[in-house]
Amino acid sequence: MAIWNLGSINIDHVYRMDKLPRPGETLAADSYSIGLGGKGANQSIAAAQAGAPTHHLGAMGQGDDWVIDRLQARGVDTTYILRLADQVTGHALILLDGSAENSIIIHPGANRALALSALENAMGAIRPGDILLLQNETSLQAEAARIARLAGARVIYSAAPFDLDALQAVMPEVSILAMNEGEAQQLFAAIREPLPVEGLLITRGAEGAEYRDLKTGQSWHQPAFPVTPVDTTGAGDTFAGYFAAALDRGDGIPEALRLASGAAALKVTRQGAGDAIPALSEVTDFLA
Ligand code: ADP
Repeated sequence: MAIWNLGSINIDHVYRMDKLPRPGETLAADSYSIGLGGKGANQSIAAAQAGAPTHHLGAMGQGDDWVIDRLQARGVDTTYILRLADQVTGHALILLDGSAENSIIIHPGANRALALSALENAMGAIRPGDILLLQNETSLQAEAARIARLAGARVIYSAAPFDLDALQAVMPEVSILAMNEGEAQQLFAAIREPLPVEGLLITRGAEGAEYRDLKTGQSWHQPAFPVTPVDTTGAGDTFAGYFAAALDRGDGIPEALRLASGAAALKVTRQGAGDAIPALSEVTDFLA
């Protein structure tokens, strides 16, 4: 089966400095680097690296061809990524200080400009048993989820960044709802259980992750693997993409949790987002 991912593509501009600028202040950065990010691109890379045929659905501006090259190099099918003439590629300005505190500005750009007709065209090829991944950095999540469910596909939705309206719009079509601890707290402060989804995946950083099957009440806990974290950006995306790919190839929940947890642990030992997501062989070696 295949994974479809309607998700954001962001170019991350990372500036390092001793301290973050205050309003009105101008500071020179000590270093600058550029990388591939966006929750969508990260999850597509993770799913493809885990071995699932992965089609990214989304939009970019024109130019920035290196982004497409890099997604392809990591195994992602980019056929359905639209290049919009009147939009810039989504990007993030990430300021990091000496203590890893950060300030981030995201400009969604093309990520929020995909037309419904283009989405419908692209999703014409989704098949029963496929998986659709969604996060909250694009538009049209609810529409995509409906198309997927009508086609007999499962929907895995990462409620990130948390947005209650977006969540409620998409939830009736969702099979598995994935959240980190902060997002889960926001959800349960606003909505009472039972949730109308089959399964709930909650990641808790260094505390690991749990999956609850809301139909049977069964739950599984996967401890995090002990590593020295360097950069936790994209940990949840790595987890979500690997978890989806494991389910796609028919793994059970405990196996999927273990694989995803190994992949996410390796990711946090590396600097960067999409570029730092490990390959399946590295994860397999790590878990051996
Ligand atoms: P998000 O990146 O969405 O905030 P989390 O912080 O919950 O998500 O991290 C997702 C997963 O990444 C965790 O469940 C865990 O498996 C792994 N992970 C995150 N931080 C660490 C860490 N410090 N050590 C080991 N694994 C980690």
